[in-house]
Amino acid sequence: MRSTSIIIVGAGPAGCAAAVQCARMGVMPVLLDRTGRPGGLIGNAWSVENYPGLEPMDGREISNRLREFLDRFRVEIVPAVVSGIRRDSGHLVVDSSEGVIGAGAVVVATGTRPVLLEAPGSEELRGRGFCYEVRELLEADPVPERVAVIGGGEAALDYSLSLAGAGAGVTLLVRGATLQAGKRLIDLVAADENISIRYGIGIGSLRRSGEGMTVTFSSEEVEDSLHCDGVVAAIGRETATDHLPEELRGGDTATVGTGWEGLYIVGDARLGALGQVGIAVGDGLEAAMAAVSLVKGRDES
Ligand SMILES: Cc1cc2nc3c(=O)[nH]c(=O)nc-3n(C[C@H](O)[C@H](O)[C@H](O)COP(=O)(O)OP(=O)(O)OC[C@H]3O[C@@H](n4cnc5c(N)ncnc54)[C@H](O)[C@@H]3O)c2cc1C
Repeated sequence: MRSTSIIIVGAGPAGCAAAVQCARMGVMPVLLDRTGRPGGLIGNAWSVENYPGLEPMDGREISNRLREFLDRFRVEIVPAVVSGIRRDSGHLVVDSSEGVIGAGAVVVATGTRPVLLEAPGSEELRGRGFCYEVRELLEADPVPERVAVIGGGEAALDYSLSLAGAGAGVTLLVRGATLQAGKRLIDLVAADENISIRYGIGIGSLRRSGEGMTVTFSSEEVEDSLHCDGVVAAIGRETATDHLPEELRGGDTATVGTGWEGLYIVGDARLGALGQVGIAVGDGLEAAMAAVSLVKGRDES
């Protein structure tokens, strides 16, 4: 089994912050990410306006800057999916698609995964016009002309603004009677003439029709449907920690430390949908400093 000092799982804002801090402190970490690229969820953001000192910019630009940030400190991302983290004779062991790697410390920065839409056709069409991350539609060439966004929270509104900004006509399909987001996003969506909103929607099914797809739904107990070129659902997110031992999933989220020495959980993987980039970065820095001090302390003793 290969072994290394520090492994960081996930190259979103939390994992990138942790990786560079380790490198700056003299311990080059192994940074693993299933996509092989930096940014994580923030790559979907319409405009990040709440990161101190940073001018408002979209998530794809932040992801590009994270790539430069890693390059500056010669941190590379190893494309790999982590399937398990365990202890073996007191050592931490990471099971990944790139093999089994032992480590002195592991920082879990795996963020969240989407709550799945329970509607016939959603699984079959996933990745073929239907998705949970708007980046998939924004990176399509051409960007779909008519898009249905399912959801009524911050992410659904944010996705709608990105799509409308890219020239798509957006229909926001909202289950409740109101939007559940901050005033600024609600006002921006209301003012955007490329976005229309329908409330009280119960999604029925998704199916392919012609070049596009049809979403069927009920509205005020009447069956209706919408023909579109793309559908994105943003109906919630939950921590992506399946690879952690059961006892550590959804545990104490008050700190980045866990009950296991050398194992840290940071960013959205710790906080779920409440996460923000600033918190993720702060968590990453904190865990990196603790991890480096732990492995250096062991080396010295
Ligand atoms: C539409 C939208 C807009 C947003 N706007 C803002 C905003 O304006 N301001 C703000 O502060 N926050 C915003 N956020 C929230 C922000 O994106 C997150 O808080 C932040 O990305 C969390 O960073 P993270 O590093 O903890 O996790 P993530 O960014 O989710 O990164 C996790 C990484 O782990 C990788 N990974 C997951 N599982 C595995 C595995 N098993 N093996 C290997 N790799 C794995 C993933 O590929 C991913 O790269 C927004 C979110 C969304 C969806």
